Amino acid sequence: VQAVFRSNLSHLLELMGSGKESLIFMKKRTKRLTAQWALAAQRLAQKLGSVWRDQKQILVHIGFLTEESGDVFSPRVLKGGPLGEMVQWADILATLYVLGHGLRITVSLKELQSNLGVPPGRGNCPLTMPLPFDLIYTDYHGLQQMKQHMGLSFKKYRCRIRVIDTFGTEPAYNHEEYATLHGYRTNWGYWNLNPKQFMTMFPHTPDNSFMGFVSEELNETEKQLIRGGKASNMAVVYGKEASIWKLQGKDKFLGVLNKYMEIHGTVYYESQRPPEVPAFVKNHGLLPQPEFQQLLRKAKLFIGFGFPYEGPAPLEAIANGCVFLQARFSPPHSSLNHEFFRGKPTSRELFSQHPYAENFIGKPHVWTVDYNNSEEFEAAIKAIMRTQVDPYLPYEYSCEGMLERIHAYIQHQDFCAAPGPVPPGARAPQSPFVLAPNATHLEWAQNASSAPGAWPPAHSLRAWLAAAGRACTDACLDRGLICEPSFFPFLNSRDAFQKLQVPCDSTESEMNHLYPAFAQPGRECFLQKEPLLFSCAGSSTKYHRLCPCRDFRKGQVALCQDCL
Ligand code: UDP
Repeated sequence: VQAVFRSNLSHLLELMGSGKESLIFMKKRTKRLTAQWALAAQRLAQKLGSVWRDQKQILVHIGFLTEESGDVFSPRVLKGGPLGEMVQWADILATLYVLGHGLRITVSLKELQSNLGVPPGRGNCPLTMPLPFDLIYTDYHGLQQMKQHMGLSFKKYRCRIRVIDTFGTEPAYNHEEYATLHGYRTNWGYWNLNPKQFMTMFPHTPDNSFMGFVSEELNETEKQLIRGGKASNMAVVYGKEASIWKLQGKDKFLGVLNKYMEIHGTVYYESQRPPEVPAFVKNHGLLPQPEFQQLLRKAKLFIGFGFPYEGPAPLEAIANGCVFLQARFSPPHSSLNHEFFRGKPTSRELFSQHPYAENFIGKPHVWTVDYNNSEEFEAAIKAIMRTQVDPYLPYEYSCEGMLERIHAYIQHQDFCAAPGPVPPGARAPQSPFVLAPNATHLEWAQNASSAPGAWPPAHSLRAWLAAAGRACTDACLDRGLICEPSFFPFLNSRDAFQKLQVPCDSTESEMNHLYPAFAQPGRECFLQKEPLLFSCAGSSTKYHRLCPCRDFRKGQVALCQDCL
């Protein structure tokens, strides 16, 4: 069946159920964004033309909202607790619905079981039963619940599951045996899924799929109004919980800021002003989302204190014409040195509170400075007050961008098909690429037939031998490209090393998330033995990694030029 775009979301609002504070928050958001979704659907429909889109039957099981997993977020919705997850789930539901797919939504174990067809009274059905869904979107909590209650079907159908995973799961943590042997074991990882089945909030590592969310968009009239209505000396502090104000050394930089600007906060409080928030700060208390947006429209500056990491609010601030000022982290924060990331299945290092804002947006919208350096901080404030900055929203965070990206995933990502070419070791077939004319990298041979069905299409592959100690994520970005893990199998051969003129004295095939790679001392080349361990993330000074890169669409890093 062909999927047809939907622009009336009232049936979706019914499907979302009611009761919980979290669901109420999500439904309000969906309702408020209806016109924006409808317009985006219209535009995307036009852009895609007559392309065929399969209608899928989709189950969305939001595990963290189930009583069985403790539902710790719902009671905190009105108290300054995290809202980012709810923003994202609301937008995922809207996306799937607007794209025209068949949708079921569950937020309890009972509903999950009845939708999966588990017979009542049978906690765990030992038989494999047919699964009435082509795709299941869930989170780590939901994944655990499905494993417990689907019996053998779980194994059979796990390739249809997509895991919404805010901060991402790197391949080294995902592979059970490898994680256990090499100290990458955490409470969350070790599911042996295809790493692309994990979907993140920001494009952290291309090993996972970038899901994202949307920010509210402004029309031209609103943009004009904002330009005229900005108070150049008004700052809003990022953070809803009083605890962020406990930051050491904040008095110094807040003192500087207070010399120039009127400081506003949206910190939740019960009856009295939270003692952590200084008296000179105008605290509005936690605001409903639309009122928070209004506040941002008036403000010139949105300032981060270092926590929360990587939330939606800075994108909203920038979309409403604010400059986002944030602290540089030196040394970077990671699961090695920060409690928040401890036990999360990633080794990623954050060089600032919001790396996406820093690296994908940057000046004039985003300033990343050393808060301990008063001169640098003060100079930034002064410069920001002088600059006129227009509202900005990256395409990938617009409704159209999110619809486009998820459309492409749904139509092209298939983790149930047999795995690609398995590393063949010594007797590698000729690989279909050649050394580029400038002899720095490999590219797809023009006369080679492009691997049928491969997505992204293999002809967008370009491969480099990275500098020692450089991760493939960075090696590709250095060249204005993005690492593409699905291309690793093409590179995992002696032939690829040979064509790149790497002097291998010996070639070994082992399990290591940094392979394929070349080690200078000993002139050894290493191939990857375990396809699940192909990883863009990861580096060691011992290795020059062999890195597959591809191009990407401007403002839509998840998709290559020919990916639509
Ligand atoms: N937000 C809100 N009221 C406020 C402050 C923020 O509704 O007073 C919303 C904001 O619009 C954003 C969401 O909270 O979409 C999540 O923001 P944040 O970046 O703080 O991420 P979190 O830590 O909550 O996941």
